[in-house]
Parts: sequence; structure tokens; C-alpha cells
Amino acid sequence: MEKVVIIRYAEIHLKGKNRGYFERVFSVNLEKSLKGLRHELRRTSGRWLVEKFEEGYAEEVAERVSKVFGVHSYSIGYLVGNSMDEMFAAAKLVAPRTGSFKVETHRAYKKYPLTSMEISAELGGRLLADNPRLRVDVRSPESTVFVDVRENGKALVFGSFEEGRGGMPVGTSGRGLLMISGGIDSPVAGYMMAKRGMCVELLHFHSYPYTNDGAKEKVVKLSKILSRYSLTARLSAVSVTHIQEEIHAKCAAELNVTLLRRFMFRIAERVAKREGIQCLITGESLGQVASQTIEGMTSSNAVVSLPVLRPLVGFDKDEIISRAKKIGTYDTSVLPFEDCCTVFLPEHPAIKPRLEFIEREEGKLDVEALVAEAIGTLEIIEL
Ligand code: ATP
Ligand code: MG
Repeated sequence: MEKVVIIRYAEIHLKGKNRGYFERVFSVNLEKSLKGLRHELRRTSGRWLVEKFEEGYAEEVAERVSKVFGVHSYSIGYLVGNSMDEMFAAAKLVAPRTGSFKVETHRAYKKYPLTSMEISAELGGRLLADNPRLRVDVRSPESTVFVDVRENGKALVFGSFEEGRGGMPVGTSGRGLLMISGGIDSPVAGYMMAKRGMCVELLHFHSYPYTNDGAKEKVVKLSKILSRYSLTARLSAVSVTHIQEEIHAKCAAELNVTLLRRFMFRIAERVAKREGIQCLITGESLGQVASQTIEGMTSSNAVVSLPVLRPLVGFDKDEIISRAKKIGTYDTSVLPFEDCCTVFLPEHPAIKPRLEFIEREEGKLDVEALVAEAIGTLEIIEL
């Protein structure tokens, strides 16, 4: 009897002609998520099975699989021969110790000598005889033993369906460059685009030495957590220190943030285009801070031609926080390290900056040289 993890997929089956492609990408993603664990991944009709992992690793396999987008549900169970004795031996292992239960059988192999009902009745009877603390309740049992009789002389026996994250396989919806800070919002924004199948690449801006190694470590850690879902392999980091010094020295203080953001967008677009990435992604949410007004977003959009996706634009902070907690990034995001945006932060940032004013102040800087210089500092961190 072999312990296995059973995976069922979500939206993929909706994709008609593209189904084969979606399934291939999904398989590759499952393999990526299981990297470093001994296993075999096998496609059977309508589901995937992870087999041959080391004893005691079922939970780890399930935990990793649970983070892959496209997984509709998954179960830890047993793969056994379809004789009644073998199915009963597995059923005993997944059945509860006490309380009410039922057996629910699904029969893909229609030539099996017993019907689904008969199999359930037989196994239920044996379980009852084996353990007097159990009782059957077919209407609302506390536990269910699921039996799935397959066509290859095998059966799957498991005790629960765990809900997957849904979404689409990462890599089936183009590529985006997430501007990732050490904050709460941007990792959530990246998660949401990855969930829709986008391949999310990462770009971080730092102001070393005004920001320290702790701030960088924090972003690396966030990127690693995010990459469990997005399967991203690396993080790019660019220094905006000189840009901030120049803005601080030469431009109106209330425009500090606005001008810095325009530089970030320009640099991000340059990096994206070089890598064939199709859009930018930010964690902005309308009205959350002074720079996230429609005027602020318009002023940033004005310097780039790629689309800018802002998946959190309509979310309240509480909603973003509760998502960050579910994803597992929240505790890292709230560690107290300075982000580059808080260095040189003006006391009264402009809330609705006018474009002529922005352009006049920006005219005091050699924008092109500063962008090129910043891109020259690009460093790649493998995750
Ligand atoms: P976050 O929680 O994502 O930091 P925030 O509420 O602090 O967001 P801002 O600091 O105004 O908001 O940043 C808005 C967006 O700009 C971020 O969500 C992120 O996409 C991008 N951004 C901000 N700072 C950086 C940075 N240092 N590196 C890369 N992107 C950044
Ligand atoms: Mg921030």
C-alpha cells in the first residue's frame, strides 16, 4: 500500500483547445514546487498523483502542492489494488477512531463487479465490525472515507478533500514586473497576478546606505515567500540613492515622492522591456497615501508606455492585510526596516500635483543620465 498525494485541478478544464498547453504548464509548475523532494509525479485521468516520496513527507508534499495555482483540491491518501481486502486495509487507516462516518465510493472502472453503493456498504460494514466506537451516518457524518476505483486495477482511498487555491497555472497569462517594496501591499499584488497565471518577475529599489542590509534581507525573504506561489527564481535590485539625493538637493520638497515614483516607473519599464516583460505591477491602492491618488497614478503612468496593473486599487488596507496574513507575508512585511520611500520623505507631500509643476521641477535633473546610472547598479539575487 502506497501513500500518495492526489491533486485535482481547477479552471484548466475550461480552456477548450488550450487544455493540453495548460496541463503541461501545470505539470511543470507542480514539478517546480516539489523541487528538492524525492518524488514521482504522474498524470492519471483527470488528476495528478505524487508518489514515491520518502516516508513521513506526505504533509510536506501536500503543503507545497497547496500553493500551486490551478490546484482545485488535494488529498493525502493511499493507492492500493482494487480488491476488497486491500481497499479495506487502506480505509482502516483513513477512517476516524470514533464518531459517525460514511463511505463514499466513486467508480471510474464501470466493470467492477460491485456497484459504488455495494462497495460503500461492504467497506462500511467491515469498518463497523472492526471498530465498535464507530457508527454510520450517511446524511451528515463527522467523517467520510472516500474510495475512488480507477481503471487500472487500482483504487485511491482518502479521508478528506483539502481546498486548493484555484487560479490558473503560472506562466499561462504573460509576464509582469512587480515593483516589490518591503511593505505589506506589493507582495499581495504579486500574489494576485500570479494567481491569474501571470509569470511575476521582481524588481526592488533600495537607497543603500540610507537603507541597510536588514531592509534588503526583508525584501529577499518576502520574495522567497512569494516565490512559493509565483515560482519566481530571482529578484533584481536597483539603487535609487543618487536619484533621491539629486531630487532632494534640486527640486521642490513636496514633490519628492512624486518624482521618485516617476523614476521608479521609468527604470522598471526599461528593465521590463529589456527582458520582454509585458507590463508593470504595483501594490498601489486608491487613496491609501498621498502619492496614490488618481493624480499621482496619472503622473507615474505618464512616463511609461507599458500597461501598469494595480490589482489592489479597490481594496481597503484591512482587506490587504488579511490577504497578506493568509499568504504568509504579513509578519515579514511589518518588520521595522526603512524603505527607500521613507528616506527624505517630505513633511507635506503633494497630494494632487499638477503635471506642469512636476515637469518643471523634473527639468532641473538630468533624467536620462540618472536612469541609465541606476540601471547600471542592477544586481540579481537568486531566490
Ligand atoms: P507597499 O506596502 O507595497 O510598500 P505602500 O502602501 O507602502 O506599498 P508606497 O510606498 O507608496 O505604498 O508604494 C506604492 C507601490 O510602489 C508599492 O506597492 C510598490 O509596488 C512600489 N514601491 C514602493 N517602494 C518600492 C521599492 N522600494 N521598490 C520597489 N517598488 C516599490
Ligand atoms: Mg511601501
